[in-house]
Amino acid sequence: PPLYKQRYQFVKSLVEKHNPKKVADLGCSECSLLWKLKFCSSIEVLAGVDISEDVMKEKMHTLSPLPCEYLQPSWRSLVITLYQGSVAEKDPNLLGFDMITCIELIEHLEAKELAAFPEVIFGFWAPIMVVISTPNSEFNSLLPGVSLFRHLDHKFEWNKKEFESWALEAADCYGYTVEFTGVGKPPPGAESVGYCTQIGIFVRNYVETAEIVKHKMTTNHVYKT
Ligand code: SAM
Repeated sequence: PPLYKQRYQFVKSLVEKHNPKKVADLGCSECSLLWKLKFCSSIEVLAGVDISEDVMKEKMHTLSPLPCEYLQPSWRSLVITLYQGSVAEKDPNLLGFDMITCIELIEHLEAKELAAFPEVIFGFWAPIMVVISTPNSEFNSLLPGVSLFRHLDHKFEWNKKEFESWALEAADCYGYTVEFTGVGKPPPGAESVGYCTQIGIFVRNYVETAEIVKHKMTTNHVYKT
């Protein structure tokens, strides 16, 4: 399967393993991953965030209930909400989530947004688990026609060491542990370049008290629903 499908499947498998109830996808774009996650039975609250309202709206109708779901309503309640806003800004709507995914998002952030992002996701939202994927620049030499970056809109592409040191620093600072993996295996003989897409799985290593969450909930809303 194409790489983007491998990334979605990776997240879906992780959801099926951990059974989170509340999942948010940052930089959800055309809602393709959200659509896939809609069929994961553990999820009761699904949220998408993107800076571009137009991109999100293009296919958001695919998230609506299917006719058969009206005819035979399921026992599970599922609420899907889309938010327009920047992941560099704190909004209380994403507090209390079990899992937050950021698939091919961070390399699209401006330096200022990237600098603000760890405090927002790990410090403020502080979900139990965070999944971050980004291109591994070491793989680019194996891709035909890639000179600098894989996409014009990428602000940077990191090698394994760069991503791992960014992730380890954030994890260390905000009380998470992180493990590294990826999708898109290199061809035989080129194993040292690593996966085409690198992925960090962060797990919070403390319990957040209801009191702290309650306090954070008083933060002003900035996202548009
Ligand atoms: N996650 C999607 C996937 O895997 O199919 C696609 C990600 S797309 C490459 C990057 C997305 O991030 C775009 O839809 C873009 O609008 C969004 N984005 C860029 N900067 C953002 C920001 N500061 N806050 C929220 N979304 C942002």
